Amino acid sequence: MKYNEFEIISNFFNKFQKKEKNLIKGIGDDCALVKMPKNSILAISTDTLVEGTHFFKNIDPKHLAYKTIAVNLSDLAAMGALPKWVILSITMPKLNFQWLKRFSDNFFKVLNQYQVTLIGGDTNRGSLSITLSTYGLIKGKKTLLREHAKEGDLIYITGSLGESAAGFFLLQKKNYIINIKTRNFLIHKHLHPTPRVAEGITIKNFANSAIDISDGLISDLGHILESSQCGANIELNQLPISKKLINNFTQNNCFNWALHFGEDYELCFTVAKKNIKQLKLAIKKSLIKCKHIGYITTKQKGFNLTKNNKKIDFKKIGFNHFN
Ligand code: ADP
Ligand code: MG
Repeated sequence: MKYNEFEIISNFFNKFQKKEKNLIKGIGDDCALVKMPKNSILAISTDTLVEGTHFFKNIDPKHLAYKTIAVNLSDLAAMGALPKWVILSITMPKLNFQWLKRFSDNFFKVLNQYQVTLIGGDTNRGSLSITLSTYGLIKGKKTLLREHAKEGDLIYITGSLGESAAGFFLLQKKNYIINIKTRNFLIHKHLHPTPRVAEGITIKNFANSAIDISDGLISDLGHILESSQCGANIELNQLPISKKLINNFTQNNCFNWALHFGEDYELCFTVAKKNIKQLKLAIKKSLIKCKHIGYITTKQKGFNLTKNNKKIDFKKIGFNHFN
């Protein structure tokens, strides 16, 4: 794609962006150059979305642009980092100006919303895939690592779980009977998950550990448990499952989706008892909405699930991913 590469970059990606004070050089040289502010840690992450694996073949490029940014910013959110810069590597089978325009218009719109600057990338020919690398800043020295959960920590989830799964389900089952407004709301939740950036920054100073829920609560909280060498007690009735789900789907579906589906991109985090006052204050100031679902234990490894305080056999909640 060498001949058209520069054309693509200049038409669709090297667009006017608001000047960012730490950026010395963005798109247009061999490297981008950024100045590191004092007393900050640089958080770096990358994620690839591949056609057929992470998104459907005929996805609206506008939605693809959104999702690419959202899933990447979600990783920074889970570290309590403020997103600053991104690098976009895009591989496409052919030149499709209409597609590129729709993709890049929304890409810049969303970047602008989060005050993030595109500082470089790469453009190639091949099966459609998009890789975004993100760079964010963590203020001060405190970090929010998966390995820092401690016995007695309370476990919280932002927002709600399972709505993205329900949206995905509805995209497959076009004639599932459900109120049209609710259908659209849930599909929107699937296509437009909100990365919990502000929430991540809010909890960073008082939480012990955090992760974003991309693969499902069991899988993702499982990473915290493994890294921190501990277990978790979770009460199923405490899971943040919205009325929209409870009123429209079986309880089994709701629990399954909340525990196993993922793609809600909510944060799961753990807070020591002595820091709960700080969390309560943040809730009071409307900096975060979250729900307590259980606590960290070292008496067992892995999960202990209860429903109304009665132990639940893990396997009884059949695993059902729709994937
Ligand atoms: P090089 O050959 O030095 O890697 P390229 O021709 O690949 O340079 O890219 C030229 C400039 O355009 C670089 O600054 C690069 O970061 C940027 N760039 C290339 N592709 C993209 C893209 N898809 N989005 C944003 N910037 C891009
Ligand atoms: Mg290059």
